[in-house]
Amino acid sequence: MNQRGFNFNPGPAVLPEVVLRAAQGDIWNYQGCGMGVAELSHRASHFEEIIQDTEKLLRKLLGLSEDFLVLFCTGGATQQFSMIPMNLLRKGEVGSYVVSGVWGDLAAEEAKKFGEVHISASTKDSQYVKLPEKYDVHPDASYLHFTSNNTIVGTQHLVEPESQAKPLFCDASSDILSRPIPTEKYSLIYAGAQKNIGVSGVTLVILRKSLLEEIPSGLPLLMDYRTYAKSNSLHNTPPTLSIYFMRETLKWIDSLGGLDAMDKRNRAKAHLIYNRLDASEFYEGIVDKGSRSLMNLTFRLKDASLDKTFLKEAESRQLFGLKGHRLLGGFRASLYNALPPEGAQALVEFLNDFETQHG
Ligand code: PMP
Repeated sequence: MNQRGFNFNPGPAVLPEVVLRAAQGDIWNYQGCGMGVAELSHRASHFEEIIQDTEKLLRKLLGLSEDFLVLFCTGGATQQFSMIPMNLLRKGEVGSYVVSGVWGDLAAEEAKKFGEVHISASTKDSQYVKLPEKYDVHPDASYLHFTSNNTIVGTQHLVEPESQAKPLFCDASSDILSRPIPTEKYSLIYAGAQKNIGVSGVTLVILRKSLLEEIPSGLPLLMDYRTYAKSNSLHNTPPTLSIYFMRETLKWIDSLGGLDAMDKRNRAKAHLIYNRLDASEFYEGIVDKGSRSLMNLTFRLKDASLDKTFLKEAESRQLFGLKGHRLLGGFRASLYNALPPEGAQALVEFLNDFETQHG
């Protein structure tokens, strides 16, 4: 297959064309230096420039003040489920968790290994199809943790939960840099790169500097945020190629006009598909309309006996990655930053044709 299709995978996910094309050249010979970008030493000046540019672009796009540190970790968002309570759940206090999806539940479960956990709100009993309406923040909470976008079921907190003056922590793995957010409300934001800002291997952690003082001594080196802060994320070999891809992806976001432009583009794509689903008796959305995600759109066929045919026909039209998560079934279209508007258009055309043919 020579031609590329549209990639609706939930992550690792689609990358911008310009990034892939730049990488093709840079992997062979980076800026004419005679070596490819994946072959450079992490102590070489070329790589220093890459990691510094990446941080600068993040600060610019998110409007981050000097109160924040930008760290490049590994281990995915899942490692942050452990690092957060190890570093920042104070003795004698509790970690408050909003459980509005599977990942938030896993984060809370992991935190229980390190201290007391308080569930600020949970929609687990209703299979997470609606966002919680109320949040109860524990008076002794070290922080309030939430997942901004629930990748599996397809709901999104477009407004932050009220943290009642407690530090607000966010797993933004599946909507980071997809829209502007009021960063001043946050104390910690983390995200694996592989959905909206690059490829897997690097985990972005944005942390308020003042939180470093809270960290207990004796943590394993690579589980201690101070190790990354002291060394500019270069204590040991970082995932250099993943950081390169992040920089290229951020350059692309910047070139399109930053987060306002991303937001506009992402809303347009999502509305196109939601409008099509809403106009149909043949398809149905899975989540509550007021809780819908702009990133992961989940839906079902009313006649589930057509599920396999739907996927097969979609793939024959080069529409990939539409299978729903195994916990939920149905379908999921992930419309991250890099999915071109033409991809959403192609999906709508397929939804139309499939309904005409099988409806
Ligand atoms: N949080 C969210 C919201 C996710 O979508 C994912 C992965 N899909 C994770 C955490 C886990 O990420 P990782 O595989 O990078 O550990």
